[in-house]
Amino acid sequence: MNTFKNWILSIISTSPKLSGWFVFLVSLSLTLFLSFVEYQLKLSNERERVNTKLFEVENQIVNILNNSVSAAKTLAYLSKNLNVVPEFETIGREILESNPSVDAIQLLDSGKIVAIYPLGRHQKAMGYDILKDTTLLREASESIRRREIYFAGPYTIMQGGQAIVGRLPIFNGDQFRGFAVVIVFMETLIKTAHMENSPDSPLYIQFSKTNPNSGQIEHFLPEIENPAEFSGYRSSRKIELGNWDLSVQLKNSTALSSSAWSILLRISVSVLFGFLAWYFARQPSILRKKVQEQSEEILLANERFELATKATADVIWDWNLLTNEVYRSEQFIQMLGYPSEESNGNNNFWTKIIHPEDLERVKSNIKEALDGDNQYWEQEFRVRKADSSYAYIIDKGYIVRDPQGKPIRMIGATQDISKRKYAELKLLEANQSLSNANEELKVFASLASHDMKEPLRMISSFMSLLQKKYGSTLDEKANQYISFAVEGSKRLTNLINDLLDYSKVGFDLKLIEPLNINEIIEEVIKLKSDLIRESKATILVDPLPVIKGLKTPMQILFQNLIGNALKYRKSDTAPIITITGKELKDSWEFSVEDNGIGIDPDYLEHIFGILKRLHPKEKYPGTGMGLATCRKIVTQHGGKIWAESTPEKGSKFLFTIKKYE
Ligand code: ADP
Repeated sequence: MNTFKNWILSIISTSPKLSGWFVFLVSLSLTLFLSFVEYQLKLSNERERVNTKLFEVENQIVNILNNSVSAAKTLAYLSKNLNVVPEFETIGREILESNPSVDAIQLLDSGKIVAIYPLGRHQKAMGYDILKDTTLLREASESIRRREIYFAGPYTIMQGGQAIVGRLPIFNGDQFRGFAVVIVFMETLIKTAHMENSPDSPLYIQFSKTNPNSGQIEHFLPEIENPAEFSGYRSSRKIELGNWDLSVQLKNSTALSSSAWSILLRISVSVLFGFLAWYFARQPSILRKKVQEQSEEILLANERFELATKATADVIWDWNLLTNEVYRSEQFIQMLGYPSEESNGNNNFWTKIIHPEDLERVKSNIKEALDGDNQYWEQEFRVRKADSSYAYIIDKGYIVRDPQGKPIRMIGATQDISKRKYAELKLLEANQSLSNANEELKVFASLASHDMKEPLRMISSFMSLLQKKYGSTLDEKANQYISFAVEGSKRLTNLINDLLDYSKVGFDLKLIEPLNINEIIEEVIKLKSDLIRESKATILVDPLPVIKGLKTPMQILFQNLIGNALKYRKSDTAPIITITGKELKDSWEFSVEDNGIGIDPDYLEHIFGILKRLHPKEKYPGTGMGLATCRKIVTQHGGKIWAESTPEKGSKFLFTIKKYE
């Protein structure tokens, strides 16, 4: 029994559509059957109603006819025994009083009318011989043949009006003597038998007969409506006494139309049942599908998590703050060398391996994060590896809290940053020595400026004095030596100044300001105006951007590059210097191009070094500090400098400056 139930349930849940259709069809068949039964019942009620009416009308007609028969028979009987004609007024009245539905009676001698009651309108029929009237003859003969009463009509009688006429042949022995005749007008018949038709009545009654003379069917009740349109049940009966057909018909059957709403309602209910069956049958399969999808998602998420923990070198950990239990991913063994049995489980293990110098900081830091409303926690500290060496790690965690904000779980990742930490430390050694060297250079430069320039000035001024006072007494060679010495001390002074400038170039982010490069170049051009005029130089300057940087170093930068472009000109060509600037993604790029003597490509890198020169000082004076200073400025502004050149055609110096916020 149980297995059958389970089997049914499994069919329902696996095929909800089938279940829906099944319930729909079963309930539809049931309800349609009910509707059919109801329809049948209504039809039979309608039939019953028609038949009842038919029976009622027929009963009435038969009553009238029976009355007529008894009236005719009474008259026939009386007429056999006495001459009723003189007394017909009295006899006729008495007969009609006891048969009230008869309108008139007549006595006929053979075919001739000899007595009538009541006379009135019937007067004019007196003396008429019906056996000589061909239209009446056939039915009159029929009654003689039957030897009993036979009703003719209804037809329009000669006295006026439509009536049925019953003729009872009177025989004396075998000899035909005449007729006892009863007349019932149609109005009387219709009224007494309740045969009136009206448009309001649901039933239609007809009283008809095949005309014995013409053979045509004649209908005697007035047809107010068209009977051909009636569709309801019809029932008819033959009334032998006059060969009439009596029929009653229901004008319109309402059996189907009155059931239509209930049929429709039942179909709707079946649809609803079918839908509900489908809907409820679907639920288990929807639930099953959801469970399946969610299980797949969980599996996928698990797999993703496992793969992610494998893909990263970080240790992924999950710390239950309520039980103090910790899960750590496999990478823990690779990172620190402890077996997973040792590392997984209790969090106390972790506190044991944190460097004693870092332990308090880490503990208080975690406590602060958990006690507050932070979601994230992050710390850098050292932990002891299984081989007793220390690793620098960065530990990051996400804090999960319950609705009251109490921390219940922390999930995070541990990253070994030992390499980076050592590299940072190395850089910090290196920076230290660089700043020491810089400091030494600055000290040297300041010494040079103050302590070395003074004796140099002395040498140069005493040499000039010597030349002035004793120049005339010294020979030409001695004078030449003196001017060499003066020249040398001047160059040394320049060199010291340039070195001092180089060492002084510094960079302080706080001093960064917006610089209009076009304005800076204008100032440089003003400064170099004598040389520009003298050399007939043309300087073409593009519209240049406003950038952020340090003003003085940027000025020195353009001053050196424009100065070199003027200095290293060809002796026979007027210098043309073009200055451009453009915006790159993260920086600005500038160029200073000339049409001067150019540089041998082998030395393009070389020229940015301290004291590096390519030309003899006699031809092009200089110290070899200009481009070194330029490189220092550009580097401090987060950029780089380089040169492109074709000897005898010209050089192009390009540099970039980082975009500062
Ligand atoms: P200097 O004081 O000698 O000009 P720099 O550092 O400014 O020192 O230049 C280094 C060397 O690079 C110069 O001696 C020169 O040989 C070469 N140089 C610099 N600028 C140009 C230029 N525009 N055209 C040709 N050579 C140049």
